[in-house]
Amino acid sequence: MMENNRVISKGLFLWLSTLSLILLMVMVTGLWYFISPRLHEFNQALPFVLLSALRIFFLILVIGTILVFLTSVFEKNFLIANFAVKLFIRFMYPICIFVGKIFRIRKEKIGESFVSVNDSLIKALNPKYNASDVLILLPHCLQDTSCPIRITVIPDNCKRCGKCNIGDISKLAEEFGVDIAIATGGTLARRIVLKKRPKLIIAVACYRDLVSGIQDAFPIKTFGILNIRPQGPCINTKVDVQTIREALNKIVIKKDE
Ligand code: SF4
Repeated sequence: MMENNRVISKGLFLWLSTLSLILLMVMVTGLWYFISPRLHEFNQALPFVLLSALRIFFLILVIGTILVFLTSVFEKNFLIANFAVKLFIRFMYPICIFVGKIFRIRKEKIGESFVSVNDSLIKALNPKYNASDVLILLPHCLQDTSCPIRITVIPDNCKRCGKCNIGDISKLAEEFGVDIAIATGGTLARRIVLKKRPKLIIAVACYRDLVSGIQDAFPIKTFGILNIRPQGPCINTKVDVQTIREALNKIVIKKDE
């Protein structure tokens, strides 16, 4: 069921990306029709040359889109996963938000879908890193509001009492030997990343912080895990710890490997 939800979630962003590319092709072709008579006056062969170049460009776009679909759905590297990560993180999100507005699709849905696609493209690359190169970055809102302990500067202060997920994640970080940090906001998160210089981040946050975090941290790969908000945003949030374990299992090189 969870896997089905993930596929549906990925689907929204992938379809919006495809739609954006179709709109781009229609607009560029329309422009060609508009300017081709003038080009013909300039040089008779020019409209034909330009049309041929456009057809080759469109063919590359179509093949590229099919490969991105396959990469994202099957989480296997169909030749272009590395390029797809760059393309999707750098350009496709704002374009999809723009197209999504036309169809009145909520930004939150598109953001969640973007995070799913980002994660599946990272999985397709099958990255392997030493534990010292991986950072688990958590939002402060995961901490139970009744907890008096200050954990933002020193996460090790957590007593692992079980009232919130921070304790379980601390145990997990210790088990895998990876670093853990807790940020109170985007600015602090950026500062932590600059200071610790990880090669891969496993970040927990809401869709908005994950989207900006994934884009800001690039080219560092960020595996995003959406938090759960039973009491609304930014208070006593939760996360599926098993998802973090699965990500660590996939990414961190074990000592005996
Ligand atoms: S698990 Fe850690 S952070 Fe969470 S309430 Fe207990 S001591 Fe505080």
